[in-house]
Amino acid sequence: MRVPFNLADIKPGTFAYLTKRKLKNKEGEETGEIIVWRKKEEEESRFVMRCPFCGVEQEGSTVFTRRPYRVRCSDCDRSITLPKILNEAKKK
Ligand SMILES: [Zn+2]
Repeated sequence: MRVPFNLADIKPGTFAYLTKRKLKNKEGEETGEIIVWRKKEEEESRFVMRCPFCGVEQEGSTVFTRRPYRVRCSDCDRSITLPKILNEAKKK
């Protein structure tokens, strides 16, 4: 899974965060993955994700308001909780 930009072209300080997480299905297997990032001057976070439930790859944007942060799969419509995504996010 790839982010829609070239990381080598990104200036330091562009992102508030950029992080990659494995996502588990309901059996606890890591069948999905998400990369989430937010640019410093933007309120919306953007993501690319492979849904752990249906395996569909998608991208989208959302404003995370309260924890735990969740995104919804555009294909199977399940809600996916992001594990501790921002606490451990690497500061760029
Ligand atoms: Zn899905």
